[in-house]
Amino acid sequence: MPRAPQSLPGRSPDGRHHVVVVGSGFGGLFTTRALAREPGVAVTLVASTGHHLFQPLLYQVATGILSEGEVAPATREVLRRQRNARVLLGTVTDVDLERQVVTSTSPGGTTTTSYDSLVVAAGAGQSYFGNDHFARYAPGMKSIDDALELRGRIFGAFELAELSEDPEEVEKLLTFVVVGAGPTGVEMAGQIAELAHRALRGNFRHIDPRRSRIVLVDAAPTMLGAFSDKLSRAATAQLEALGVEVRLGQMVTGVDADGLDLRDQGGSTSRIATRCKVWAAGVAASPLGAQLAERAGAETDRAGRVRVEPDCTLPGHPEVFVIGDMMALDDLPGVAQVAMQSGKHAAGEISRRLRGETQRRPFRFQDKGSMATVSRFYAIAEVGGREVSGVLAWVLWLGVHVFYLIGFKNRVTTLLHWFVSFVGRGRSERTATLQQVRARQALAAQDEAERARAQDRLTEAGDRPRGDTPAQST
Ligand SMILES: Cc1cc2nc3c(=O)[nH]c(=O)nc-3n(C[C@H](O)[C@H](O)[C@H](O)COP(=O)(O)OP(=O)(O)OC[C@H]3O[C@@H](n4cnc5c(N)ncnc54)[C@H](O)[C@@H]3O)c2cc1C
Repeated sequence: MPRAPQSLPGRSPDGRHHVVVVGSGFGGLFTTRALAREPGVAVTLVASTGHHLFQPLLYQVATGILSEGEVAPATREVLRRQRNARVLLGTVTDVDLERQVVTSTSPGGTTTTSYDSLVVAAGAGQSYFGNDHFARYAPGMKSIDDALELRGRIFGAFELAELSEDPEEVEKLLTFVVVGAGPTGVEMAGQIAELAHRALRGNFRHIDPRRSRIVLVDAAPTMLGAFSDKLSRAATAQLEALGVEVRLGQMVTGVDADGLDLRDQGGSTSRIATRCKVWAAGVAASPLGAQLAERAGAETDRAGRVRVEPDCTLPGHPEVFVIGDMMALDDLPGVAQVAMQSGKHAAGEISRRLRGETQRRPFRFQDKGSMATVSRFYAIAEVGGREVSGVLAWVLWLGVHVFYLIGFKNRVTTLLHWFVSFVGRGRSERTATLQQVRARQALAAQDEAERARAQDRLTEAGDRPRGDTPAQST
């Protein structure tokens, strides 16, 4: 039986200023940690998952290099020593800006939490540019569920190819298409190529994984468009040397179980027969952004990010900060550095106000550079105005990712796994279950059936003569 909504206080009972943080990603975690030494503050972090996800390494979970635990430690373990912080599991469904109350739901019921200050860092999800039905056959790469589903689909394709006696089917199974030539798509295509051409060598008796075809598709005319032409060209050449077919200027117009339809800029169409597709194109901010913007009379940009004030607050609501991937400010990109720094900025502003300072400081982003890895021993990086590619950039990439990974144990085991996979050629995290591959579709079918039942009930009620009372209402 659903529990009655549980209410949690705004000002904590001991009179401390109550900060509610939504989301346990980079933005939420960095806000919470930055408030650790504020004795006058109590923090409640509400997030829809119990873990802090290090998204930049998700592709390594999908391709069997790392385990999900290494990139997603439990948030309450990460914050166990921070006595002024507590963690609540819950998906925030409503923010009442007037009453300063956040409503969240979990399998345990509904919880309402009052706040003095609110920091919303619910991130972004995958965007299929209005074609949400593509998701059924081309999962995105945003969550642990996505990565495990993709792991099952990638390794499962090799397994099914080994079983098949039909050469056409084998070819379809050994064709992998990654949509989106940004950093995630490039990393994913590079890793599938290394898997097929190197890591799986000697694993099969009927098929030769080296015959696999890996295709990277994007509607844009260049790969890794956020980098300079020189670095983008170097990365493209490296990816092609790995055996990846790079098809740019090609828009995906259809996705089904057997393949993917494309249209180029001249209007010519083509089709790639493939069972395994990965969607790494496009992001859309959490729908909480649109809700907040509508209620505050603020604007959103094309990706659904909220146009915030220079200090990252919601227009008209200086007590509400919207940060990270949900915030639209100065054309800043949706990257981890922006989320971390805007989280620290929000925490800093709250602390300053509690000290009685009234002047609002604008958020100043410090660009520490950007990098993308293509394969083992090869990355590209733009740091401090300098461009680097190859092994040096890869070592830099390795160092930065280990530095920002949360938890000492995770850093040690990640380094060990990298040694196994990059110096050796093993993939120690290949475990995948049918449940992981099918769960999303089963849940979608369940939702669809529920919607159909609800529609039937409505139609039935509409057909009844006026005044008739349904025997049972649900
Ligand atoms: C595959 C991938 C690779 C990436 N690689 C890089 C990279 O190499 N370098 C880089 O700088 N950036 C990279 N990024 C981008 C970077 O990860 C994001 O910019 C960053 O995570 C944004 O942080 P955030 O806190 O705003 O959101 P997130 O990290 O997405 O966190 C959002 C949090 O909110 C929670 N949440 C969502 N909705 C609700 C709700 N309604 N109620 C409660 N909680 C909710 C989620 O569970 C999560 O805890 C990558 C992203 C992806 C997906």
